Amino acid sequence: AAAIEIAGLEKVYSGSGGRAGKHALKGVSLTIPRGSIFGLLGPNGAGKSTLINILAGLVRKSSGQVRVWDIDPDVAPRAVRASIGVVPQELTLDPYFPARAALELQAGLFGIPKLARRTDELLAALGLADKADAPARSLSGGMRRRLMVAKALVHHPPVLVLDEPTAGVDVALRQQLWAYVQDLNRAGTTVLLTTHYLHEAEALCDRIAVLADGEIRANDTTDALLRRV
Ligand code: ADP
Ligand code: ADP
Repeated sequence: AAAIEIAGLEKVYSGSGGRAGKHALKGVSLTIPRGSIFGLLGPNGAGKSTLINILAGLVRKSSGQVRVWDIDPDVAPRAVRASIGVVPQELTLDPYFPARAALELQAGLFGIPKLARRTDELLAALGLADKADAPARSLSGGMRRRLMVAKALVHHPPVLVLDEPTAGVDVALRQQLWAYVQDLNRAGTTVLLTTHYLHEAEALCDRIAVLADGEIRANDTTDALLRRV
């Protein structure tokens, strides 16, 4: 089976608190093969976050079919969270909490056995071992970003989702993050990333789907897509 299978997905937000309702996803169909690095490319407001939130079991779809690692997020949101790690756009770290504590807390939430060992593994893998006991506020932007990735990976999810991973990130750090994502992928993790930037999707992804105004406008291998633009 595919890592992620989406067919005829619709999302209509009902208006509330004075905000208008919005048809955010209009019949989206996508298959994300296991082992791929898949890019979801689209401008602001296209529906990328809505799609990710549905995959992660955080937003309920209006209609259509969704399977993440063969699980329907609406039916089994807890099981789906075990199969997916999401790196959100915002850095959500307690500034006074050291990296090690942030990871231990996350590992505790997922009931990871040998929590200290898993934490050490991740700190080493993401180049954070030297700063493990320093408060998050003293880490560089790049280190904080890597700590967010480590948090998303704590429970060994087969699918890693990165929401605009390099928004506001400088070139050196971007290269470093990309190299790490590629290593993870080679080790077997399926990766879905959203981005505004074609060059980012192009450098990393095997396949790219273009989402605009809630609709898939293109979905092809990166090579085939680039031959057409
Ligand atoms: P982003 O583009 O980074 O996803 P948005 O500004 O679209 O950020 O959304 C920020 C938050 O506000 C999100 O939680 C989103 O679900 C919510 N939101 C966005 N647009 C609306 C809207 N029209 N009505 C209600 N909530 C909204
Ligand atoms: P993207 O991540 O591609 O920027 P989003 O999924 O955040 O797009 O938003 C898609 C559309 O849905 C936008 O028009 C946004 O304002 C709207 N939207 C997002 N969240 C909500 C919400 N909670 N309620 C109403 N509209 C929303």
